[in-house]
Amino acid sequence: MNFSKRIMNIKPSATLSISDKAKAMKAEGKPVLSFSAGEPDFKSPEAANTAAIEAIRRGESHYTPTSGIAELRSEVCRYYKERFGLDYAPNQVTVAPGAKPLLYEALQALADEGDEVILFAPAWVSYVEQIHMAGGKEKVVDTISTDLLPLREKLEEAIGKKTAGIIINSPSNPTGAIYPAETLRMIADVAKEHDLWIIFDEIYERLAYEPAKHVNILNAAPEVKDRVLLINGASKAYAMTGWRIGYALGPKELMAKINTLQTHLTSNPCSIAQWAALGALRGAEDDVEMMRREFAKRRSVMVEMLRDMPYIRVKEPEGAFYVFPDIRNCPIPDDMEFCARLLESKYVAAVPGTAFFAPGFLRFSYACSMETIKEGMTRMKEFMESL
Ligand code: PMP
Ligand code: GLU
Repeated sequence: MNFSKRIMNIKPSATLSISDKAKAMKAEGKPVLSFSAGEPDFKSPEAANTAAIEAIRRGESHYTPTSGIAELRSEVCRYYKERFGLDYAPNQVTVAPGAKPLLYEALQALADEGDEVILFAPAWVSYVEQIHMAGGKEKVVDTISTDLLPLREKLEEAIGKKTAGIIINSPSNPTGAIYPAETLRMIADVAKEHDLWIIFDEIYERLAYEPAKHVNILNAAPEVKDRVLLINGASKAYAMTGWRIGYALGPKELMAKINTLQTHLTSNPCSIAQWAALGALRGAEDDVEMMRREFAKRRSVMVEMLRDMPYIRVKEPEGAFYVFPDIRNCPIPDDMEFCARLLESKYVAAVPGTAFFAPGFLRFSYACSMETIKEGMTRMKEFMESL
């Protein structure tokens, strides 16, 4: 069978592949502890469950508007007004089966064949593949040597005739870095000067740990509103990964194009899941805060235990639920080999930094239980001491 050049150019998601491998090993009876996929272990909030059950009983089982039910789109507008003081109309909001398809659709709508899209590395695994799916090319601006924040000179150096736009992810997956207002203003300024669009993926915005604070790019640089697409969703803040609900807010014209794509691609996100997300947005504030506090405790324990291991250097993440230790000084500095050996010998699954354009680093998710963190980090320490 001959496959298309397009599909031959796409790699499977490293985060999901490793998590699937860990699950398969567990099913074989191996005592695997997985720190691979970033997925909260909490149950979805009661407000989401109740809203979903009521929706099922009411018979909300038909196609919905392509861009999502009006009630949820209005609720997303209310949320953005209350949380960030931003004014969006419901026709500037699109709901999709997760943030992932929205990112895909946005890139299809914004990038032409051969266009370049700027990524700040370390960068989440799906951006680059989705850029490829749109026929574009990534232009990677590394931030490892600049304290995980891009510098203006480096960004400007990366911009050329073919640059179409920039993807920003704050809080960052995989590093947990949060972009401060001045960095966002700088990027916005450069985007304006070179007429670039910006995708601002803030899916982890509810997970910032004091004293760090999340900043929405439009609070830092309101003047770029007509070139910014905001990406958010229910997966991370509300522990609703399996329901598959993401939302995007942006200029009307762009949202119309994204909706056109959805008419052919997804038709609409699951009707019941949309009602569940509405329930969460209306009634799960306490759950969000409870989970955030718990993640903060897990973060401290994981960072502390990693700092107690030989060879490891680790920066305390400010947000999201990942720790990104540096293993470049250890006897196995190759992160792919390191992860393979850690999994084989200690049954601990982590994602190699290479998957995020950051060889020599590892990503551990702390969205799992405290017990798993303590046991996993104890095994990891034994592994480090055996090297
Ligand atoms: N953006 C980032 C940075 C992520 O880590 C994820 C993780 N799944 C997503 C988007 C997509 O989330 P979902 O499709 O579950 O809404
Ligand atoms: N975003 C999460 C992660 O990075 C979930 C898996 C995925 O979608 O990549 O682990």
